Amino acid sequence: MSKTLQAIRGMNDILPEQTPAWRYLENTVAALLDGYGYKEIRLPILEFTELFARGIGEGTDVVDKEMYTFLDRNEESLTLRPEGTAGCVRAVLEHGLSGGGQVQKLWYAGPMFRYEKPQKGRYRQFHQMGVEVFNLPGPDIDAELIVLTWRLWQKLGLGDSVTLQLNSLGSSEARARYRDALVAYLQERYDLLDEDSQRRLTTNPLRILDSKDGGTQALLVDAPTLHEYLDDESLAHFEGLKARLDAVGIRYEINQKLVRGLDYYSRTVFEWVTDKLGSQGTVCAGGRYDGLVSQFGGKPTPGVGYAMGVERLVLLLETLGLVPEELNSPADLYLCAFGEPAELAALGLAERLRDALPGVRLLVNAGGGSFKSQFKKADKSGARYALILGDDELAKRVVGCKPLRDDSEQHSIAWDALAEHLTACLKQA
Ligand code: ATP
Ligand code: MG
Repeated sequence: MSKTLQAIRGMNDILPEQTPAWRYLENTVAALLDGYGYKEIRLPILEFTELFARGIGEGTDVVDKEMYTFLDRNEESLTLRPEGTAGCVRAVLEHGLSGGGQVQKLWYAGPMFRYEKPQKGRYRQFHQMGVEVFNLPGPDIDAELIVLTWRLWQKLGLGDSVTLQLNSLGSSEARARYRDALVAYLQERYDLLDEDSQRRLTTNPLRILDSKDGGTQALLVDAPTLHEYLDDESLAHFEGLKARLDAVGIRYEINQKLVRGLDYYSRTVFEWVTDKLGSQGTVCAGGRYDGLVSQFGGKPTPGVGYAMGVERLVLLLETLGLVPEELNSPADLYLCAFGEPAELAALGLAERLRDALPGVRLLVNAGGGSFKSQFKKADKSGARYALILGDDELAKRVVGCKPLRDDSEQHSIAWDALAEHLTACLKQA
């Protein structure tokens, strides 16, 4: 016997019992973004490796440790996208969508790939829904992005389960000055740092701020803080953002250690975090990346965006019992047919019913079977009525209608009256 094939670790099948929750989330997000004037963009899953190396930055965990990179048959280095922003910026530049200062409000959804240690809420293929806005430099659009996510939580019933963490990273010059000060401070205490942080001191020192190591965290208490180094314009931007969130009544916590994993952020960064999923608690994260477009060779173009983790949000909805029940609702009608002539007639009848009863879930028996086996399947489908078509019914041009969820009697209905009759039956609770 050959070995049973299995999916790759950390790459999950989304089974039929789970897809209704996924669709509910995806549809809710899509409708919401549509209402704010955002347009969907669909991007390739594979890009040249260089795009991520340049966009996300060497020295980040994603680029150094997490990418799925390989040479294709043409010896070109390709990478399965680990996130959506770099590809989106590439597409916007390639198609001139941000030229002449045009404002673009875009969203995307789809799978991302990172070679991580799989665990609850952390997978190797996972899904994001993300938003990117180009050519709006002010705090008003940063606020709109946050308002959008906040409205989403309200719609999904998650309002009390997530909190907003906010920070400003300043201009790249301010951040560079801060980085120097932080490195100088930590260099003097090098031996007390955990191993990861020692490595990061040369590759990506700001990431040390969110180290999970207790010793390192203790060292950071007296370290210079980012906000002492912020430039005036970034400070004003941050004040503008906070004022707008206050105006809507959105609460936030300022977290100076929030630096985000990716290199390209400037000024605003934020995360929505829940304490209901264990350590994989960030469900949405984003920020401003005014330098990214020029890093790709485009004209300087302000950009800001975020990405939500779909698996984590679905988990959260499931954990809190917030997936609407009716999404899993069973069939309404199950049509049984006995013998070839009845089966042929049943097909046409079913299609006419589908025309007359839009939105009604009608299952037609397939695979034949005795009365007993077809009724069993009808019952299992969860349908409220079994419709029966045999030789007798065919001769009389009627259908037997058997209620499956109460004790009322089976009755015969003429074909012509069937749609109207069923509409009335299905309306009854
Ligand atoms: P984390 O700190 O949890 O690794 P991150 O900073 O690497 O997150 P981002 O690159 O900002 O994550 O991605 C945005 C969102 O995508 C995250 O907040 C999270 O909800 C989700 N996400 C990121 N990586 C994974 C993963 N491996 N599995 C599932 N969801 C993920
Ligand atoms: Mg990560």
